[in-house]
Amino acid sequence: MYQSTLFSKTKKETPPDEVSLNAQLLLQAGYVDKLVAGVYSYLPLGLKVLNNIQEIVRAEMNKIGGQEILMPALSPKANWQKTGRWEGFDVLFKLKGSGDKEYALGASHEEVVTPLVDKYVNSYRDLPVSLYQIQTKFRDEPRPKSGLLRGREFSMKDLYSFHRDQADLDKYYEKFIAAYKNIFSRCGLDAKLVKSGGGTFSKFSDEFQVFTPHGEDIVFSCSKCDLHQNKEIFAGDKCPNCQGKLEENKAIEVGNIFKLGSKYAKDFGLTYTDEKGQEQDVVMGCYGIGISRLMGAIVEVHHDEAGIIWPASITPFKVHLIPIGADKNDEVKSETDKLYKALQAKNIGVLYDDRLDMGVGQKLADADLLGMPVRLIISAKTLENGGCEVKRRDSDKVEIMPFDKLVEHLEK
Ligand code: ATP
Ligand code: MG
Repeated sequence: MYQSTLFSKTKKETPPDEVSLNAQLLLQAGYVDKLVAGVYSYLPLGLKVLNNIQEIVRAEMNKIGGQEILMPALSPKANWQKTGRWEGFDVLFKLKGSGDKEYALGASHEEVVTPLVDKYVNSYRDLPVSLYQIQTKFRDEPRPKSGLLRGREFSMKDLYSFHRDQADLDKYYEKFIAAYKNIFSRCGLDAKLVKSGGGTFSKFSDEFQVFTPHGEDIVFSCSKCDLHQNKEIFAGDKCPNCQGKLEENKAIEVGNIFKLGSKYAKDFGLTYTDEKGQEQDVVMGCYGIGISRLMGAIVEVHHDEAGIIWPASITPFKVHLIPIGADKNDEVKSETDKLYKALQAKNIGVLYDDRLDMGVGQKLADADLLGMPVRLIISAKTLENGGCEVKRRDSDKVEIMPFDKLVEHLEK
């Protein structure tokens, strides 16, 4: 893509009213725009990142048998009354429609997916089933000030699994832990499995937490064994496993998985007929990942004083191609054009800084702020030295590489 045509522009300064690091960098670089607190637009580069994260999540959910659906964001009050969450879900957005009908904006989808599954599942042969969606969720969070980490409107992947019994749920749940670990490491994050108190209707849950100084959660980690527990439930000063010393870490919860049991199945009469012809309650699990929170978490972890450093798996473009002096030197211009075409032909995503009215300092500062993993510079000097300057965003090392080796090198 030609940078001169990019809709969004970088800003000279960080937005004064934004306190969170992820939002400061993403706003300054033009990845997102803030409408009001907790509500953001995703601009062209930001949407590419969000889509890349979604594709990783989709691939891992499909691998363990998840089937993608899309449920409505609007759901009737009656469904939420059945589960006790019209009053019990403290951050639920409620609205009035015509004829005094009342609705909730989807904050979570047990109230929609359970009656949906009831329409298709009758016999033990119909189970297990695993349904997920990637959708905008709405929660009226009080004072959201953590940027993408806590939105009032945000992107979530939520999956719901339905089983004959607890043993079948337990087996599937273990597969999830492995799939979630894959997702977070593919996104460049080291997420720890953390034991926690459950949500509205379950006793315990497993959270996936990324340790960073700006996290909203506090996790106790054992210095000896691999035990991590959320501070919210934990009482005591030693590891309950091995009596080791506990360390306190700030962390971001990027995912959360629950065994729901038959709570929602009972609310909606979701049963199945077993092998003996007996009617049984379906057993459920639910599994969430904050897609947009993940984008914020990646920025919190991968940045330096100059800007963002995207992991290659989710970056909007792999390469930032920057000619220097192309307005005065035809060879610089033609070699850069040639390389741009060669990279595109190999399907290597490239942002071409073709802005002629922009000084070198500003171009390089923009490249650091935007954070593409590889920067390529072509100037009269690099051509004299036989090629183009290659620099990784996460390293200070620069090297000159001949054009014929470059494309192959980048493909790796
Ligand atoms: P938190 O304790 O941070 O409020 P939660 O326990 O309410 O999270 P869940 O209801 O389990 O979260 O939602 C699943 C996932 O969605 C969370 O693990 C988190 O990654 C993400 N998430 C939850 N609330 C928000 C929000 N307001 N903005 C962005 N992502 C969110
Ligand atoms: Mg919450």
